[in-house]
Amino acid sequence: MSEIIKTEAVVLSKMNYGDTSLIVSLFTKELGKISAIVKGGRNPKSKIALKVDPLNLLEVVFYNKLNRDLQIVSSADIISHYPAIKSELEKLKYGQSVLEIVKYLTVEHEQNLRLFNGIVRIFSLLEESKGGQNLVFARFFLFFITELGYQIQFQKCVSCGTGGFGGKSIFYNFDQGMLCNNCSKNFIESFEIYPELLDCLIGLRTNKILDNVSKKTVDNAIAFMEKFLKYHISDFKGIKSLQLL
Ligand SMILES: [Zn+2]
Repeated sequence: MSEIIKTEAVVLSKMNYGDTSLIVSLFTKELGKISAIVKGGRNPKSKIALKVDPLNLLEVVFYNKLNRDLQIVSSADIISHYPAIKSELEKLKYGQSVLEIVKYLTVEHEQNLRLFNGIVRIFSLLEESKGGQNLVFARFFLFFITELGYQIQFQKCVSCGTGGFGGKSIFYNFDQGMLCNNCSKNFIESFEIYPELLDCLIGLRTNKILDNVSKKTVDNAIAFMEKFLKYHISDFKGIKSLQLL
């Protein structure tokens, strides 16, 4: 038995399949991530071909069969195609990074409405943005890590319990957690979190305006989160789109 599903979906990736078809990865509102085939999708006359492109937000109809790896897309309509993200390199870099982490770090057939809405929201923020794209991405990245089930704590030293770091650098050991300056000396490798970076990481969780935080610190916040995920997910090698573009 297969059922017909009509849902909004973000196109995460597409690749050619055989001489005529496309295989796509979609993050759908109803079913989370799915893989699907667009039969005849490589034919330039195909009504679906041009619509099914990475980043696009679509309304798709497909036949869903649970015990099948590839669902079959029967129609697609564009809701948004984000022309500014596709034409400006800095926006594209972060847009692609969103697609990449959602594609590689989420599991199939697991609905997550918050994540779906988060992706649509970051795309519209990137589309409209006039600078500060790394900050838009950094907020999404921390939200995404939380959706994966990780909590990063910055309140107190996990070794001695000290809180309130008095404007001094603290250190994050990916095995232990947060360490104060003193205790960090007992551990070989830890990531230095200087005061502005700590304010930035804490601020990313809230809607606090972070306009005063330097671009470099926001980049360091992204690098910290990337390292955090690499440590916890052994086959995650970092976000390629951040390096390529
Ligand atoms: Zn300590």
